[in-house]
Amino acid sequence: KGKKMAKAATKEVKQNAVLGAGIMGGGIAYQSASKGVPVVMKDINTAALDLGLSEAAKILNKGMELGKVDAKKMAATLNAITPSLEYSAIKDADVIIEAVVENPKVKGIVLKETEEVVADDAIICSNTSTISINQLAKNLSKPERFCGMHFFNPVHRMPLVEIIRGENTTEDTINAVVATTLKMGKTPIVVNDCPGFLVNRVLFPYFAGFSKLVLDGADFVAVDKVMEKDFGWPMGPAYLLDVVGMDTADHAASVMAEGIPERMAKVDNDPVTLLYEASRLGQKNKKGFYNFG
Ligand code: NAD
Repeated sequence: KGKKMAKAATKEVKQNAVLGAGIMGGGIAYQSASKGVPVVMKDINTAALDLGLSEAAKILNKGMELGKVDAKKMAATLNAITPSLEYSAIKDADVIIEAVVENPKVKGIVLKETEEVVADDAIICSNTSTISINQLAKNLSKPERFCGMHFFNPVHRMPLVEIIRGENTTEDTINAVVATTLKMGKTPIVVNDCPGFLVNRVLFPYFAGFSKLVLDGADFVAVDKVMEKDFGWPMGPAYLLDVVGMDTADHAASVMAEGIPERMAKVDNDPVTLLYEASRLGQKNKKGFYNFG
């Protein structure tokens, strides 16, 4: 009996949808498809959809090179991603993951439009890194079926997904998103809504500490070497910032400083901000702390 009740409480997820086919949307669509959950990927123009699909193909090609993926798996994964420019394509999705640009107005419109086409019991999530889930929930008539589902970049390599509970999110919604995360081969952690959620609350003070050392005159290459080679982390802070992107890091630091100034005050003359202002964004435009080929 207990088993039956648990099943009834947690909605079975047969199809996902991703809104936005950018770095994150493309990665999330790949992840869902590669774990056998068909996914509709919606964007506003064909070029963006092509980029999302080519991102998935790139990951699969790398897997083929390494002998981890065969032609059958490649075809099955790509076939499980349905690109579309139309909202009607997401009408049967059980879980919809919004991953459009980090702009509360755009996200608000997209969330409203989504609610108009999906089933009453569909679950709607946002992959936002910095916008309050409670604020985004105000765009929905049914905020109880909404929560954050925060993947990390690159999606196919980062195991964690932060599931962010808004003040109106029901336990059924959280349970279904936890189940979806597991089905997608990721590790869920449920957190409350707050600036930076969990990971960025830990990561950004580390970045701030690094920035202050650089301002004190430390050589960033030497700091990276110590943290990576000697301390044993996968990469040092400067390299990690190049991966994250100076625009993303600077924006996230500002949002946290606004939300919790007593804990996460912005660093004056932060090298991250200076690099951002000099358009040295990191790996995405091939120059940040380091130059990339
Ligand atoms: P991106 O700029 O690469 O992609 C955004 C995509 O959204 C673009 O393809 C754009 O065409 C599309 N889009 C814009 N308006 C749309 C609309 N109305 N309907 C459908 N698609 C629309 O951005 P990204 O880096 O993939 O980030 C997406 C989200 O994920 C943001 O909320 C960001 O904060 C979050 N996030 C990013 C990272 C990261 O490291 N990049 C990590 C975690 C979370």
